[in-house]
Amino acid sequence: MKRKGILFVISAPSGAGKTSICSEVVDRMPHLRQSISYTTRPKREGEQDGVDYHFISRRQFDQMVHDGAFAEWAEVHGNSYGTAKDTLQKAQDDGADVLLDIDFQGAAQLRQSGLDGVFLFIMPPSMKELERQLINRDTDSDAVIKRRMQNASNEIAQAVHFDYVVVNDQLPRAVETVMAIMRAESSRTRRAIETLPDEFGLKSST
Ligand code: 5GP
Repeated sequence: MKRKGILFVISAPSGAGKTSICSEVVDRMPHLRQSISYTTRPKREGEQDGVDYHFISRRQFDQMVHDGAFAEWAEVHGNSYGTAKDTLQKAQDDGADVLLDIDFQGAAQLRQSGLDGVFLFIMPPSMKELERQLINRDTDSDAVIKRRMQNASNEIAQAVHFDYVVVNDQLPRAVETVMAIMRAESSRTRRAIETLPDEFGLKSST
C-alpha cells in the first residue's frame, strides 16, 4: 500500500555542505528523488544540463514566472532559481519522496503556501568554517565569496523557521542525521497509517 510522497526541503547558506549532504542522501536512499531546479546561473565546470539544473536563459525564466510555472522561485546571489510545479506534481503522482535543495526565500514561499513539507536547515559549525569551505570550493571568484559571506548571516537568521536544524560539523554524521529525520517523518502516525492494511481499521480515524 502506497503512502503520499513526502516533500523534504533543505536550505543552508552556500558553503555549509548542503549539496554534498543532498547527493549522499539521494545515493543512499534510492526511493528519494531530487528535484531539478531551473536557473539562469551559468553552468559551472562539470555540471550537466538536466542533471544538476535545467540551465535556461533569463528570457525563458521570466516566461515561466509569467506562466505561473513555478511553485517557488527566488533571486539568489544575482541569479534566478525556481522549482517547477510540474516537478512536484509528478513526484506526488508517482508517490515519490522528493528532496528540494533550495534557498531560504524559496523555502519560505513553500511554507507560506501551506505545502505539507518537512523543512530542514543545514548549519555550518561556525562562520569561520563557512568561509573556509567557500574558499576551498574554488569555484567562485573572491567577489562572489565576499557576497556569499555577507548573505550568510541573513540566511542563518532564518533557521528558526525550519522544522529541523542539522549542524554539518562532520559530513557522515550530518548525512546520518538527515536520513534519520527522513525515516522518522515517514513513520509519523498520519503517514504510517496510510500504508497499513485496512483490517487494522485505523484509516477512518485520521
Ligand atoms: P548554486 O548556484 O551554488 O548551485 O546555488 C545557489 C543557491 O540557490 C543554493 O542555496 C541553492 O539551494 C539555491 N537554489 C537552487 N535551486 C533553487 C530553487 O529552485 N529555488 C530556490 N529558491 N533556490 C534554489
